[in-house]
Amino acid sequence: MNAEKLSMRLTAVAKYVPKEARLADIGSDHAYLPSYLVKNAGIPFAVAGEVVRGPYQSAKSNVMAEGLSDRISVRMGDGLEVIESGEIDCITIAGMGGALIASILENGKEKLETVKRLVLQPNISAISIRLWFLENEWELITEEILEEDGKTYEILVAEKGDAKRPYQKNKMEMELLMGPFLIRHQNEIFKKKWLSESSNWERVKKQLENAAATPETVEKRKEIEDKLKLVEEALKIEKS
Ligand code: SAM
Repeated sequence: MNAEKLSMRLTAVAKYVPKEARLADIGSDHAYLPSYLVKNAGIPFAVAGEVVRGPYQSAKSNVMAEGLSDRISVRMGDGLEVIESGEIDCITIAGMGGALIASILENGKEKLETVKRLVLQPNISAISIRLWFLENEWELITEEILEEDGKTYEILVAEKGDAKRPYQKNKMEMELLMGPFLIRHQNEIFKKKWLSESSNWERVKKQLENAAATPETVEKRKEIEDKLKLVEEALKIEKS
């Protein structure tokens, strides 16, 4: 992978960044995503943010080598602290856990006032992001699931709006866990992911059944049983 040829995962993230957007890619590492977008997709300006020195230096040297230093500002700092209020209108955060992505958004809330779109790609726990959207008036507008090198990735795209709109009242818990759009447009990758999650949960449930019953194990078992039910129900829903 390089700034010319992105991974399938980052190509999918890139397609949701609007043309002409002023972009911040947080946790940019090598800065391939902003470099690709500036070179190929009409992005006039981007910030590549990194909190760790090694990746920050790698981003800096890649951007310089591509001759993009006048259009991509590589900045070192934690989360959204690298951007100024009003400077950016689209943010991408890819390749981290959903809880970390949600905490980056939460800690930098005041920087989001003029941001129009968030394109987020959690490696795990997309539910943390869906919950954050719901609590912060960001409307999930689409989702995608893909598989690359045996791993499954989800992409969540949100804009300011009616955070409840994508959800059905009686299916909220299921849709927060698995994704309202992904459930309605189920593909083979989605089914495979949740069948695999379910078999992991079944294994843990068996272990808990053999363990001494404490309030914690009982609660954990109930939690797993509830999630297993949600997945079973979701996989029965016909494609729309
Ligand atoms: N976004 C790239 C991608 O999807 O290929 C790189 C993903 S890499 C696995 C995650 C990067 O996020 C690391 O380089 C890490 O240093 C950076 N990171 C983690 N927490 C961060 C934070 N709070 N602020 C900025 N960068 C962060």
